[in-house]
Amino acid sequence: RSARGNWHTKPRIGIMGGTFDPIHNGHLVAASEVAWVYDLDEVIFVPTGRPVFKLNKHVTNAEDRYLMTVIATASNPKFTVSRVDIDRPGITYTIDTLRDLRAMHPDAELFFITGADAVAEIMQWKDVDEMFELAHFVAVTRPGYSPEAASNLPVGRVDMIEIPALAISSTDVRKRATNGEPTWYLVPDGVVQYIAKHGLYRQ
Ligand code: ATP
Ligand code: MG
Repeated sequence: RSARGNWHTKPRIGIMGGTFDPIHNGHLVAASEVAWVYDLDEVIFVPTGRPVFKLNKHVTNAEDRYLMTVIATASNPKFTVSRVDIDRPGITYTIDTLRDLRAMHPDAELFFITGADAVAEIMQWKDVDEMFELAHFVAVTRPGYSPEAASNLPVGRVDMIEIPALAISSTDVRKRATNGEPTWYLVPDGVVQYIAKHGLYRQ
């Protein structure tokens, strides 16, 4: 019996992929909202290895991004963090993430969570047809990105849900850290402190 009092025959697991450089409250609200709406038992956060759409950008080393994700999610009993993408060598493709997590949870129903910006890229993703067989896709609204981007997607393949708008991006958090501006309340306290302790995003 789930938290919402429903009976499900299969475990229901959300997958929240991201670069998480760093993880911020927009990611956490997205995961929490989808967990509520879809009555999920667990949401697995999966920090990417080398993200395919960010090959020409500098990305903080995987271990720091992984640890910040652990710190940010530790207090939520439904949230866990997986190393599958950072431990797999090479570029991260979502299809590999889904295959790995499917193999680890053969009887689960999987829900892949993305923002309204990332979903626009879905059609360019590798092996998109197999991805739709492995998981349901749930796109959440994100300030600055039109939900219409999802309207080009195959009918019935991606659900769009509206979540409380948090105009937070990792890009902005990094810029703030670089300029010595505050990042409190944009990211969890432990992440503010981790960034300072390890001198991340300094010039
Ligand atoms: P960057 O600015 O470095 O691209 P980001 O804030 O977009 O960072 P990502 O790690 O790229 O964060 O995003 C991971 C996932 O979370 C993506 O699916 C993205 O669309 C979604 N997401 C990120 N921020 C928000 C937000 N504020 N509201 C809703 N979804 C978000
Ligand atoms: Mg992004």
